[in-house]
Amino acid sequence: MKQVHTDVLQDARAIAHDLTSWRRRFHSRPELSFKERETTDFLARTILDWGLDPVTKTETGLWVDIEGKGPGKTVLIRADIDALPVQEVSDAPYRSQNDGVMHACGHDGHTAMALGDVRLLLERREDFSGRVRVLFQPAEEKLPGGALDMIKAGCLDGVDVVIGLHLTPVHTAGGGRLLEAGQVGIQAGPVMANADDFSITVRGKGGHGAMPHLSVDAIAVASAIVSALQQVVSRMVDPLQPAVLTVGTFKAGYNFNVIAPEATLTGTVRTFDASTQERIIASMERVARDTASALGAEIDFHYTRGYPTLVNLPAETEVLKGTAVDLLGEDALVACPPMMGGEDFAYYLHERPGAFAFLGCGNAEMGATFPNHHPSFAMDEAALPYGTALLTATALRLLEEGA
Ligand code: MN
Repeated sequence: MKQVHTDVLQDARAIAHDLTSWRRRFHSRPELSFKERETTDFLARTILDWGLDPVTKTETGLWVDIEGKGPGKTVLIRADIDALPVQEVSDAPYRSQNDGVMHACGHDGHTAMALGDVRLLLERREDFSGRVRVLFQPAEEKLPGGALDMIKAGCLDGVDVVIGLHLTPVHTAGGGRLLEAGQVGIQAGPVMANADDFSITVRGKGGHGAMPHLSVDAIAVASAIVSALQQVVSRMVDPLQPAVLTVGTFKAGYNFNVIAPEATLTGTVRTFDASTQERIIASMERVARDTASALGAEIDFHYTRGYPTLVNLPAETEVLKGTAVDLLGEDALVACPPMMGGEDFAYYLHERPGAFAFLGCGNAEMGATFPNHHPSFAMDEAALPYGTALLTATALRLLEEGA
């Protein structure tokens, strides 16, 4: 088995040029969640050129089956393909050509690696029994998440195990230490948080900026709410339960001399534990409503429960980890404590056993030191053959173990 793994890494290295040029293509033409039409077209055309049949049951995204030489299990490799509403800051010749849209979370790399997996598995059809399904999923970045649509469309039908990975230049633990190309973080159990979103609209009473006594200033009320919300996690949640409450946007106002009649806050809440989540929702609503009421305003409170906690299963985690060690060596493994990011891969893990890993792509010399979602996010493309090989080799091993 070890020999096979080494071969897979060699094969992945042999297509490193393709992996990089695919990734740069996706990077320069990023598309927002559920709008990944050009990306999907390119994937479908490439896969058709290779003589395979892409399954396109959703408006964007697709999957493709690579059948081995005989019957066996089905392993699903998942990549997400969407970009973010971020304005890229970069001098790279392949920087985003779509204003205000950027592959700032490495999904361009995920897409390229999964295409590489299709390529490698196609060449190895005679070497395995069973089937590998490679899934290109839209809209990881937008609640309720593209995973649900793909599951509804049948992407898990007949699937036994699911695997996936995420590129990241920076380890969130240890104060933002670099995670370099070829380093892998994987751990069984809960590793990514439940990710919810909320919006709070404050309704005051508009008026003249010089006559506050005749108005209810929605900006002043919303500011008080933002401040009061800081107490929810710090003062109302068990300190041993991880939780984050972030207000991400604050929109209000017409002009310098006009008192804003309305203000809207949006944000996200991250937790690992359902009772903590429920406690936060109730506390937030009370704090926001009573703060507004004390200051003479009213609120509309909307809360959307998003991606569930991502929980890696022990057996599949061991296979992924063991494969990483065989391919990249024991030193490649880094500790990977749970983090508060959310991932709709969690939905697949609610339906099937599987595991999800983090693959480093940081490089100080290249300036790939910014965290995911940053306007200067960049990656060391040396990570691409590693990720491609890791997923293909893990899929092959999972198929073998099922035989
Ligand atoms: Mn992501």
